[in-house]
Amino acid sequence: MKSKITTVLTTAIAAVTISGFSVAAEQQFVSIGTGGVTGVYYPTGGAICRLVNKKRKEHGIRCSAESTGGSIYNINTIRAGELEFGVAQSDWQYHAYNGTSKFAESGKFEKLRSVFSVHAEPVTVIARADANVKNITDLKGKRLNIGNPGSGTRGTWDVLEAALGWKRSDLALASEMKSAETGAAVCDGKIDGYFWLVGHPSALTQESLASCDANLVNVQTPEIDKLVAEKPYYRKAIIPANMYNNKEDIITFGVGATFVSSSDVPAEVVYIIVQAVFDNFDQFKKLHPAFANLKPEEMIRDSLSAPLHEGAIKYYKEKGWM
Ligand code: GLU
Repeated sequence: MKSKITTVLTTAIAAVTISGFSVAAEQQFVSIGTGGVTGVYYPTGGAICRLVNKKRKEHGIRCSAESTGGSIYNINTIRAGELEFGVAQSDWQYHAYNGTSKFAESGKFEKLRSVFSVHAEPVTVIARADANVKNITDLKGKRLNIGNPGSGTRGTWDVLEAALGWKRSDLALASEMKSAETGAAVCDGKIDGYFWLVGHPSALTQESLASCDANLVNVQTPEIDKLVAEKPYYRKAIIPANMYNNKEDIITFGVGATFVSSSDVPAEVVYIIVQAVFDNFDQFKKLHPAFANLKPEEMIRDSLSAPLHEGAIKYYKEKGWM
């Protein structure tokens, strides 16, 4: 992939220099791995690409957002050189870069690079009202969707389950549907609830709470407090009162959504992507309600464990942010 991108880019730059026009000679394609279409990753990738593609005649890059299985899939696919960018939970960014947890077997992904962080992703549990689930501890013996393999959600469930000292058999059913399928499953009574990590407001959460008799669940136990205190990539979080049908704050914990790449992706490409987002930041923030409170100074610092990509550093330094 590196040679393909580098060659195309070199050709494009050469064409610009020779002709003196700011029109790139060849198009270059970059793909962003996201998540399910009713989540927040998919519109995040869409928002970034929309801003990049506005100037594609000038820089020659055509950006597309792909719906995928989520964080761990995105990181592994960037590592394989089949995606240039991806959205990933900060806990899985940390583990991939350090070669820990689910990445112990594949080893450190040393070329993983942070670009910026995006919205917060609280652990979010939605349960049918007739299941009578108020806190995560009430989920024992229930039918819960724990996330599709490859999702960050699923990875974090495994960690949480171990922290709580539960076995898989403590759930009556642990289904592995993709996020986009879980809304209908909970409303149809095929499952009692679903677990996922997502920004708010999100389309799926909104749809489930509006179209079936269901509630958000607190995710609060002493074991979770200990986990949050011990791990740098977790923090306490709330889903604010009245965001959906919740009258009170939902107490939980969470991670950050981050935008990542590989050091094999040329600095020029990363620079163009970062420039598209931050040169049009007011517009970017309006592209999804979960972006409302984003601040550049936090986005280039918080929730990032892998080093920043050199193309991103160049832009941040030019801005005087570093
Ligand atoms: N955090 C989720 C995951 O990696 C994806 C959330 C989303 O699609 O917005 O599984």
